[in-house]
Amino acid sequence: MIRKTALILLSLVLIALSFNPVQVQSKSDNAASFNDSVNVSFPGSITFNLDIDTERQIKDIRLHYIVERESFTDVTQEITVGFPMPIQPEMTVGWKWDMRTTGSLPSGTIIQYWWTVIDIENNLYRTETASVSFDDSGYNWKNITQNNITLYWYSGDDGFATDLMQTCQDTLLRLGEDTGAYLESPVRIYIYSSSYALREAIVFAKEWTGGVAYPSYGAIAIGISRSNMEWGRRALSHELAHLVTYQMTSNPYNSIPVWLNEGISMYAEGELEADYENYLKAAAVGGYLISVQSLCSPFSAYSDKSYLSYAESYSIVDFLIEKYGQQKIHQLLTVFKAGSTYDNALLEVYGYDLAGLNKQWQDYISAIYVS
Ligand SMILES: [Zn+2]
Repeated sequence: MIRKTALILLSLVLIALSFNPVQVQSKSDNAASFNDSVNVSFPGSITFNLDIDTERQIKDIRLHYIVERESFTDVTQEITVGFPMPIQPEMTVGWKWDMRTTGSLPSGTIIQYWWTVIDIENNLYRTETASVSFDDSGYNWKNITQNNITLYWYSGDDGFATDLMQTCQDTLLRLGEDTGAYLESPVRIYIYSSSYALREAIVFAKEWTGGVAYPSYGAIAIGISRSNMEWGRRALSHELAHLVTYQMTSNPYNSIPVWLNEGISMYAEGELEADYENYLKAAAVGGYLISVQSLCSPFSAYSDKSYLSYAESYSIVDFLIEKYGQQKIHQLLTVFKAGSTYDNALLEVYGYDLAGLNKQWQDYISAIYVS
């Protein structure tokens, strides 16, 4: 919170500097008044409007906004907004933020914004900073909160929600015991009644989208009904683990290897499902395992290779936990948080680099599946 306040202050200073030597006026004076409003259309857009009532000639109108999220590159977005010429004494200007140009924001995202207007005498007017919550208001959301997790749902009884909350708490417990990872800050989970309802809440949803994690926003959106609870519990654990991993490792310098990120999420689901294990076993026996080095990059979109990549990621994380224990993998996450490279992090914690891990892990897998 302190960091955000500092950022906002910094951005105010920067705005004042960038318009130097403009004289800063209050929001309104006798010659000009401003009234701002905002219209949320979830998930597609937010429209910011400013009513201007002035005798003065205006030369510049800008909207400034900051999206609240965990990030090391928070910046104030600045939009120069057009206006009719000649200037009308009373006019409304606006800007529509089309989410199709930037990707989805999860429900509950807070956006702070303000307007600046400069007249031809270089007087700067600035509206008060306001905030808008980008909420999916299409449903009557209920919510429950436990240990840093707030779960929102609208379909199903209280038992449905407490069941899913228990899944979340069990996942946190498992991650804590086996990896030392935990949630450092609160997260929000939105349970839609089906995958279809979920996809309606996302711009550019893929037809197979069942759940989405927004790690830097501390949010998850997922479609779960009573009839697919088994899938739902696994998917929920998987996405929640992505938020935990992000909070444990995010830093301004480096991301973590994909096998570690996905491997922790697969591990959080519980035992590896039989389908995945079959892919793993077949690749071990057939001698076509994908190397740990290759799994540092985003996985193949081809279904067979994708299955194998997830299965291997589970297995690599399982290997590290089984062989070296909780303290070591926790140390690995901590070293990554400091911005280490992949090889250096592994060397520091386990005494070998990626190639070394690949050898150790393949030997371990072969001992299990290849006789
Ligand atoms: Zn994942």
